Amino acid sequence: MKRPGTALLACSMITVLFVFAARAVAATPVTCASPASAQPEPTEYFVSLADPAKHLAHVSIRLREGDGVRTLEMPVWNALYQVRNFAANIEDVGAQDASGAPAAVFNRKTSEWEVTAPPGCIVVGYDIHLDSPGPFGSTLNAEHGFFNWAMVLMYSPALRGQSVSIRLLDTPTTWGLRDVHILGEAAPGKVDQAIGIARNYDELVDSPAEVGIFRESAFRQDGATYHVVVDGNPADCDMAKLDGVLAKITHAAVDWMQDRPYEEYTFLYHFPRGYGGGGMEHAYGTAIDVSADRLRDGLMPVAGVSAHEFFHLWNVKRIRPQSLEPVDYQGEQDTRALWFSEGVTSTVSDMLLARSGLIEEREYLRRISEEITELQRRPARRWQSAEESSLDAWFEGIAFYRSPDRSISYYNKGEILGVLLDLRIRQLTNGAKSLRDLFQRMNQHYAKEHRFFPDSAGVQQAAEAVTGQSFSDLFRDYVAGVKEIPYDDFFQFAGLHVVMNTTQYATAGFTTKANLGGQAEVVQIDPDSEAQRLGILAGDRVIALNGKAADASLDEELSRLKPGTTVRLELQNRRGKREVELRLAAREEQSYELQDLAGVTPQQRAHRAAWIHGDDEGGGAH
Ligand SMILES: [Zn+2]
Repeated sequence: MKRPGTALLACSMITVLFVFAARAVAATPVTCASPASAQPEPTEYFVSLADPAKHLAHVSIRLREGDGVRTLEMPVWNALYQVRNFAANIEDVGAQDASGAPAAVFNRKTSEWEVTAPPGCIVVGYDIHLDSPGPFGSTLNAEHGFFNWAMVLMYSPALRGQSVSIRLLDTPTTWGLRDVHILGEAAPGKVDQAIGIARNYDELVDSPAEVGIFRESAFRQDGATYHVVVDGNPADCDMAKLDGVLAKITHAAVDWMQDRPYEEYTFLYHFPRGYGGGGMEHAYGTAIDVSADRLRDGLMPVAGVSAHEFFHLWNVKRIRPQSLEPVDYQGEQDTRALWFSEGVTSTVSDMLLARSGLIEEREYLRRISEEITELQRRPARRWQSAEESSLDAWFEGIAFYRSPDRSISYYNKGEILGVLLDLRIRQLTNGAKSLRDLFQRMNQHYAKEHRFFPDSAGVQQAAEAVTGQSFSDLFRDYVAGVKEIPYDDFFQFAGLHVVMNTTQYATAGFTTKANLGGQAEVVQIDPDSEAQRLGILAGDRVIALNGKAADASLDEELSRLKPGTTVRLELQNRRGKREVELRLAAREEQSYELQDLAGVTPQQRAHRAAWIHGDDEGGGAH
């Protein structure tokens, strides 16, 4: 997945309301006697969209077989590594037995229900409120619906591994349907049919669906069909240009991996005006949100996240760490592998942009420099390892956890580690092997053999198999450990070194974070600062800067001013409002930049070009 920085938490609060003018529909009743959705599967889901204006979906689950007490559970997490307990959105759970008589329902845990009924068919029904936009959410409103099914559908633990069918009911007649991938009859434009059949619940919930009015295109390449679905204002995105960008990325990736484990793949986009961001990978597609405001200068914001999510179809979906399997929908799933599954996915996706000609060397190096700067600015890098950061992914919803003193990002350090791994493999083989060989090996060794890799140890083994040399120091020091990275030792191979620049910025002596109301709330005050002398306290809200309403971008705004500038701040806390005048002090900040070594050799330049484009040198076959 790819998260849009810290603004994520706010996204569920911004909802555009539309007046729903369509007919009021009574939800279609589902009983044991009503027809099967497609063919009788052990679990059949029926989802009525009769109430989009209220964001309510009516779910009916028919279990054909069973005896006595049947258990149903609702996932507590999905898409994001955050426990969000989707049961909170559920109301009015009821059940009936084969005769149509009510069956007893007991809510045993917040996310677990027991239904007691005579042997045979039961139907369990409930309403669920779906109003969180974005690729990690599920939405139903008058404009459209987007569903990550794990946020919508309960499952029977006993039947989780068996096949399921799903059918949408009562959908506005003008809406079309696109699912990312479910076996069976995909029925675009004909939503009152079965969406189809999935081999099991896990596969169903990896197949999000979009219903509404959207634009669609498709292109063929390397023997596969790529579907592109766009929900957004047609003025914001040219479909032909988007197809062109995606064709470059998909071709570069398929060529790099020498593999194409699908016949069809779907890119599902939402381009909302205003806030929107993030992408979620699926085995046969991806759902991506990009704010239309970011598309004004071209499609690069879409290209980056699309390349990342697309490469996930290998790395994490098929080349999958053991710690993520089997999925535990009922609790936090501890994994130390996200530095590889997420971070190294970013390493590869930036490389794919260069390989497909969408960015050039300069931009590629700028991106890596930015990642180095981000890591080096986080004091927590001295004590939190890439593996520990992966493990603590579950804390990312907590603002304090995200602060530079408390955590590093497994995306960030993982992306750097991917670069280091690539350069070390190249160095040890004089350019003959690379990260490409590591991924191709892991694809053969694990994905194609339907095995999961043993987290970091599996990556280390692959690097050692590719080079015939030990990687234990690298993994001990930089993956499991927190040793400062000697960047120049790695980049020298490509004729580069890291140069530190110091820049002066203005600082108010405090930092803020957006609170739940989107206000800038003081979270930390620098000791001996003017802010401290003025009695500014953690928890104070800054509501205005120089008479203008302040928002979550306050810190950024202040840092753009000159040190020495005096600003007027209006503060509010439980005791009331007050105004202070504060003189901005100077703060130094380091940034890091990859630059040419003095006297870079033609050989180093050749290594660099091969590295940036993901090629092996020496012309060996793959
Ligand atoms: Zn990702």
